[in-house]
Amino acid sequence: MSGTHVYDMIVVGGGPGGYTAALYAARAGLDTLVLEKLSAGGQMALTGVIDNYPGYEEGIDGFTLGEKMQQQAQRFGAKTEYAQVERADLTASPKVLHTSEGDFYARTVALATGADPRQLGLEHEAALTGRGVAYCAACDGMRYKGKTVVVVGGGNSAAEDALLLSRIAEKVILVHRRDTLRATKVYHQPLMQAKNVEFRWNSTVAELLHDDKLTGVKLRDVNTGEETVLPCDGVFISVGRKPATQLAEGQLELDAGGYIVADETTRTSVPGVYAVGDVRTKLLRQVVTAVADGAMAVHMAEEYLASGI
Ligand code: NAP
Repeated sequence: MSGTHVYDMIVVGGGPGGYTAALYAARAGLDTLVLEKLSAGGQMALTGVIDNYPGYEEGIDGFTLGEKMQQQAQRFGAKTEYAQVERADLTASPKVLHTSEGDFYARTVALATGADPRQLGLEHEAALTGRGVAYCAACDGMRYKGKTVVVVGGGNSAAEDALLLSRIAEKVILVHRRDTLRATKVYHQPLMQAKNVEFRWNSTVAELLHDDKLTGVKLRDVNTGEETVLPCDGVFISVGRKPATQLAEGQLELDAGGYIVADETTRTSVPGVYAVGDVRTKLLRQVVTAVADGAMAVHMAEEYLASGI
């Protein structure tokens, strides 16, 4: 290993959890690198306004908050390398991250890779993405100004997407497989009161209808099996996220949902590897819980490094 630079900590993923780990690590004097594939903020950067992150009484847009977190970590010396991590040797010593920009070595690794949008798994779903099928209202909503859109899902993301789209689109139809929203109560009243939001309860999307782009969806009633055609210009799929754990597969313990098994210490089944934010098993996936994980991961990493293993 002589001549090879070995970081004290490499953080994979530059979302709120990742940059908080970087901030705490760099501020504790650890030689710290963040590997980020795109730009700071992760999923948070795609969120219009974040109203529930303390300290911003008027709310703050996720992209700006991501940049602020990156700059704060950089102030203490954390570096960022924009690279796609393709493979990781997490049990090696030092640990190795194989990336599009070469190999990087570290004594400890914080995996803060977050989660990707879950797909419905329908025929032509991938081919129609960007041609009527979308997963992010904050990113793609403006393309549907004055049009009719369907939002699929009943959680906080679907409720937020439907509300955001109701301010852009002519009509929003929320399709949910149950007869009540899973989303927290704060969304219910504004959604029910929005004049251009309609609901199709107990329904799933059975088929995406299209020519060269999406023209509508075929809905199926989950109780009766009856199918109906709903013409629309866009469908926003907002049915949760799946954890980005490709790097961990075969090396770290994962739960049935694919999340990295770790409690609030963020320690994984491999010593010196920590799971931070949405990628780990936890009850509440929020920016505030991700940043807490970032701080905790560094606390545990410092103990691990001090033990001299
Ligand atoms: P979620 O809470 O897991 O909700 C997913 C929704 O999609 C559920 O209503 C689920 O239906 C439905 N669904 C799942 N698979 C489906 C399928 N194959 N076909 C049709 N419907 C399907 O996911 P989320 O809304 O993306 O939220 C993810 C996390 O981020 C949550 O912890 C959430 O609280 C958090 N979040 C928070 C905020 C906020 O606080 N402002 C905003 C956005 C997200 P069922 O209800 O039947 O299971």
